[in-house]
Amino acid sequence: MPDLKARYEGVLQRIEQAAMHAERHPEDVNLVVVTKNHPADLVLELIELGARDFGENRDQEAGPKAAEVAAESQVAARWHFVGQLQSNKAKSALSYSTFLHSLDRPSLLQAINKLELANPVEAFIELNLTDDPNRGGIQLNQLHAFAEQVLTSKNLKLIGVMGVAALDRDPSFDFETIAKASRQLQILAPEAKYISAGMSHDFEQAIEFGSTHVRIGTAITGNRPS
Ligand SMILES: *Cc1c(COP(=O)(O)O)cnc(C)c1O
Repeated sequence: MPDLKARYEGVLQRIEQAAMHAERHPEDVNLVVVTKNHPADLVLELIELGARDFGENRDQEAGPKAAEVAAESQVAARWHFVGQLQSNKAKSALSYSTFLHSLDRPSLLQAINKLELANPVEAFIELNLTDDPNRGGIQLNQLHAFAEQVLTSKNLKLIGVMGVAALDRDPSFDFETIAKASRQLQILAPEAKYISAGMSHDFEQAIEFGSTHVRIGTAITGNRPS
């Protein structure tokens, strides 16, 4: 717990410094603490420290965890689904998730459109930043057409783009691409102005390139039990 507090507060401080360095308002950068592979107890400790936004990447794990946190905490946590979502898990995942960061393919959009949701889910379109069309995410030249489809969905509110920087090159290269895609998207959808980018090892660079939602796991939680 003392270590967790130090790491959590250290990351908050680094976010603030990175925002100021980029001449941005620190409150425009939202911290999503990625708690995958960690138990609900860790989420409850983070809530005590002030965290409210949590990221998960597997519905089988996140569903029970969200239920446990809801039962044991007075304050409401917001859940962000950040991993690849199987179409047959969409109904479950979107029942507790406020945000979907990984809208990565037309077939997932179709599955989501068939659901009856109480509230629309706020969605980021995940970009494929590689040259490999078989990787997850929407290719840049498909972004406009895909965004037009998302905008007609009754179950989703399109709020921006998301990307994971490649590990084998300077992350700034990908963050710049994401920023450019974001500007293009906003011509079509001015309200879709948010950018989900940056993880433990690269969030400061992501903030420099306009990230509004950093998804940080290990820098806060410590190493994940596998
Ligand atoms: C696990 C994960 C993160 C957090 O990664 P860390 O390196 O632990 O900060 C962020 N985004 C996605 C999509 C993830 O799967």
